Amino acid sequence: MPNWQPEKLGERTWLLPTGVNVGLWEGREGAVLIDSGGDKESGRQIRQVLDQRGWSLRLIVNTHSNADHVGGNAYLQKQTGCQIAATRLEAAFITDPVLEPSFLWGAAPFRELQGKFLQAAPSSVGAVIPDSGPIPGTDLEAVPLPGHFLQMTGVLTPDGVLFAGDALFGEEVLAKHPVFFLYDVAAHLRTLQRLQTLAAQWVVPGHGRPVREAGPLVAANRAALERIADVVSSFCSRPAGFEEILAELCRVFAIELNPSQYVLVGGTLRAYLAWLADRGTVRPSFESGRMLWRVS
Ligand SMILES: [Zn+2]
Repeated sequence: MPNWQPEKLGERTWLLPTGVNVGLWEGREGAVLIDSGGDKESGRQIRQVLDQRGWSLRLIVNTHSNADHVGGNAYLQKQTGCQIAATRLEAAFITDPVLEPSFLWGAAPFRELQGKFLQAAPSSVGAVIPDSGPIPGTDLEAVPLPGHFLQMTGVLTPDGVLFAGDALFGEEVLAKHPVFFLYDVAAHLRTLQRLQTLAAQWVVPGHGRPVREAGPLVAANRAALERIADVVSSFCSRPAGFEEILAELCRVFAIELNPSQYVLVGGTLRAYLAWLADRGTVRPSFESGRMLWRVS
């Protein structure tokens, strides 16, 4: 049996804290999961809890396609025949999961990038949903939360629980992993702004504990983002190459690299450089076959 128990957050909304937070909505025609955990084992444990409680699984709505959120899809779909729903861009990655390590590496990935940490088992997405408004066939609502990934969406239940995917990280998670993955810094900042104004009984980050008030957690996430932007732009007071800036990030935030961390932290650094360049804070130049970034 799993070493976690479902926690009731609303009248018909549950949290399954599998390591990554999975939501469960007791719909009239069956249970809807929000994400499915990190791997087959998470799927198996979720299945045990579903069986134990007499919940029949009808649908999984994925907030986004990262392997730690869709890793239980294939097992659960095979076992229960449930449908899977996701936004258009995320659906492509869920259906063809080699896209995730390919996207992060920028070419066909080498084998060490193809473990379950970055590449989930494929599952079949039967319903492409809009990233905003009612999720067809359910009484759930999609809330657009892009930034961490291309078309990430939050899921709001009728009893007021917002599953925010990785638009927010719990404070305890930020303390341990201060450089969290981002694809688009500008979109993520707009998402944080949206989360600040959204009314909900509970806000559930993808990783970490649920909170009643989004405000303080939004502020902590924004402060972490600003600190990273500061480290990057300060280091670029003299011309610096990508690998040098990456090494500085690893030094300041005590990050140890391996192939997966390299593409995740590296991708995040590219997101910050793109954002800083678009704001006119840094600009690239080319010298002796190197791309150098410098504060403009
Ligand atoms: Zn995640």
